[in-house]
Amino acid sequence: MAGPFSLEGRHALVTGANTGIGQAIAVGLAEAGAKVICAGRRASDETVDLISQAGGTGSSVLVDFADPMAGNSLFDGQQIDILVNNAGIIRRDDAVDFSEADWDDVIDVNLKALFFTTQAFAKPVLARGGHASVVNIASLLSFQGGIRVPSYTASKHGVAGLTKLMANEWAAKGINVNAVAPGYIATNNTEALRGDPARNQAILDRIPAGRWGEASDIAGAAVYLCTPAARYVHGAILNVDGGWLAR
Ligand code: NAP
Repeated sequence: MAGPFSLEGRHALVTGANTGIGQAIAVGLAEAGAKVICAGRRASDETVDLISQAGGTGSSVLVDFADPMAGNSLFDGQQIDILVNNAGIIRRDDAVDFSEADWDDVIDVNLKALFFTTQAFAKPVLARGGHASVVNIASLLSFQGGIRVPSYTASKHGVAGLTKLMANEWAAKGINVNAVAPGYIATNNTEALRGDPARNQAILDRIPAGRWGEASDIAGAAVYLCTPAARYVHGAILNVDGGWLAR
């Protein structure tokens, strides 16, 4: 039954949907009624299976955002009206030692690919009219500095800025652009942190909810931002962090 929280009849593409937060969002979008394309550098067979088990329709397409322009042809010949820019990487080293490769690799995937993939998504949407939604996956490091992750912090501050810029340009043209800023979520991305007992405890001590988040904790916020219920929400960055930033 269609309603303000339904995505029936919508077609979504989620980047980096084979695992973690992207997988949970892809399944959440399908549960809300969208048909979902999972775009990643590895096949998203597990996600497509989970979508089928939930009674939805999913498919998988290979794209490697190490080439930031790789998303250019993703939307050719098909009408997609929801884009979730989730694919992301992180590199850790002291700022004083940080390499140019670790800078470029992260900026290319997290920021440059996000911008040009969204541009490729928006062009046909703006040409045909109608409604569409973009959800970018930001981070606590869209607001805070972090430690030993300079290119990640720069990229996620950039994601927050681009979310607002694109919202400013497209809000009146039918495209909602927003972001979700996850807190500390137990995925591959945070394996190193969780494996360091001192860092793990320090993080847990500061989270009001008292636990690491699960990927599924992020899905609802991302799905909401794609629904008609969020039609007047533009340029927002929705923190889903167990209360971290409230502290
Ligand atoms: P993850 O499990 O490592 O997932 C990252 C996803 O991005 C994977 O599907 C990965 O594919 C994909 N990806 C990476 N490089 C790619 C490339 N060159 N081309 C295509 N796909 C690529 O980590 P996650 O925590 O779910 O991260 C998802 C997003 O949430 C990222 O943007 C991350 O920065 C953000 N985030 C995470 C946290 C957290 O605490 N976990 C907090 C804030 C923000 P592979 O499986 O092939 O590597």
